[in-house]
Amino acid sequence: MANQQVVIIGGGIAGLCASLKLSHQGYQVTLLEKADQVGGKIRTVSVNSLDIDSGPTVFTMRWVFDELFKECHEDFDSLISTTALPVLARHFWGKERLDLFADQHLSAQAIQEFSGKKQADLFLEFCRASKKVYEALEVPYIRASRPSLSSMMSQLGLSGTKTLIGIGPFKNLWQSLEHFFPDKRLQQLFGRYATYCGSSPFLAPATLMLIAHVEMAGVWSIDQGMTQLPKIIAQLASARGAKIRCGQSVKRIVVTNHQVNHVELDSGEIIHADSFIFNGDIAALSQGLLGSDVKEATPPMPTVPSLSAVTWSASAKSNQFDLSRHNVFFDENYAAEFTDIFQKKKLPLRPTVYLCAQSRIHQERSTDASEKMLLLVNAPANGDQTLRPEEIESCQQQVIQLLGRSGLEIHPTSWQMVRTSPQDFHQLFPGTKGALYGMATHGWMSSFQRPNSMSNIKNLYLAGGSVHPGPGVPMAALSGRLVAASLMARQPLIK
Ligand SMILES: Cc1cc2nc3c(=O)[nH]c(=O)nc-3n(C[C@H](O)[C@H](O)[C@H](O)COP(=O)(O)OP(=O)(O)OC[C@H]3O[C@@H](n4cnc5c(N)ncnc54)[C@H](O)[C@@H]3O)c2cc1C
Repeated sequence: MANQQVVIIGGGIAGLCASLKLSHQGYQVTLLEKADQVGGKIRTVSVNSLDIDSGPTVFTMRWVFDELFKECHEDFDSLISTTALPVLARHFWGKERLDLFADQHLSAQAIQEFSGKKQADLFLEFCRASKKVYEALEVPYIRASRPSLSSMMSQLGLSGTKTLIGIGPFKNLWQSLEHFFPDKRLQQLFGRYATYCGSSPFLAPATLMLIAHVEMAGVWSIDQGMTQLPKIIAQLASARGAKIRCGQSVKRIVVTNHQVNHVELDSGEIIHADSFIFNGDIAALSQGLLGSDVKEATPPMPTVPSLSAVTWSASAKSNQFDLSRHNVFFDENYAAEFTDIFQKKKLPLRPTVYLCAQSRIHQERSTDASEKMLLLVNAPANGDQTLRPEEIESCQQQVIQLLGRSGLEIHPTSWQMVRTSPQDFHQLFPGTKGALYGMATHGWMSSFQRPNSMSNIKNLYLAGGSVHPGPGVPMAALSGRLVAASLMARQPLIK
């Protein structure tokens, strides 16, 4: 069919990548985004006239974008300026601290000084194991459009199967890390990677150790801020004829004769197309937020929502404290944090704190000026309920005390911030209760329970962090590429 028209609902990174890929191939794309700008979770919050990156800050798997840009005859490097970070992250336990470096051998050296030679050797063994898991799963799972347990097993081959059996596929991440990290602080550090897909290290499958490899393979900062990424992709798609329409909320997806016929906007406008891609969280579909016609568009799933967060987008002055760009402050009882969140469904009493010091790339000392920071603690996805002000205030006090125990003092008079709670995330991302990563990856089968890009309705497709291959900027971008490929295979253009 010539002139195939595609409507994309949502301008998150997956929707944008799909819009670029499809418009490059000649599809007529209209992308409808309810917010005033594209990017979804990739967003800034303005504090004291400073734009603070307040969504993702850790940019990994750059190759996903290199490939996408190349496929569209563009060069990522000449359009988006990035800096490879020599220090991946700085970790604090009270006054003790440990840096992980892009150079694995520098990390091993730091670990040796922190925890001894045996632990440093085990760390290098862990690096080899997590790399092998990543390599075993990249093609049969991460890049595959419709992986199932059987399709994956048949593609793993002998060495991939041996790798998975070697880590104990039925173990949880925490148990599998015990072997590599007799030093409990390092078990905590590497267990934390489960939270990158919104999960508890005590419930996530051991295979999630691959996230450690992803980070060790490189972390970049985007020099003009993370929002540069969606902005440039939207521009490239527009240059290929895509209509990117912000401030347009889709109220209903309307099905006739088993196919989506049109979408209806809040404004009453109706838009017809041949195919439709939904880039919001799929929970919104099953909750009927896009109308009853598409309530059963995805198979019923056991849904433990992933983590939400409380974030503070802040402008502040601190004492002369050496922060890196990415910093993690740990408390003692890691298990209690996840019991509070996933079982008691309340803010953790003693949270881990992530702090992104956004100007500290080349120099680590603070200056006298206020600087941009994002602080984040994990939270339960209960954004459909009201959070008691005392609970959130006490969480903020805990955060400040934890930073203080490591020696970081924020001058109270300089502290200006905008707080975002699970309730706010629930408003921003409908149907999610504030869960930021789709459903939690808990249990060894959970990775196969995410729907792929095909819904139960013939011309309705799915893309984003709540579908395969999962959350995170590069993974959601991959889902955008996968959805475009599925759509092109099913509804090819006849030129
Ligand atoms: C605080 C925070 C920190 C994070 N940190 C990292 C990190 O460091 N590294 C990393 O890789 N990832 C991180 N992530 C995760 C990452 O940001 C997401 O997984 C990814 O950006 C999700 O992209 P997406 O395509 O699923 O779309 P989303 O970003 O979820 O966007 C979906 C879009 O659809 C729109 N929409 C929904 N319904 C409708 C409708 N009815 N009509 C019109 N528009 C609609 C929404 O407004 C939204 O813009 C973080 C996320 C958050 C929130």
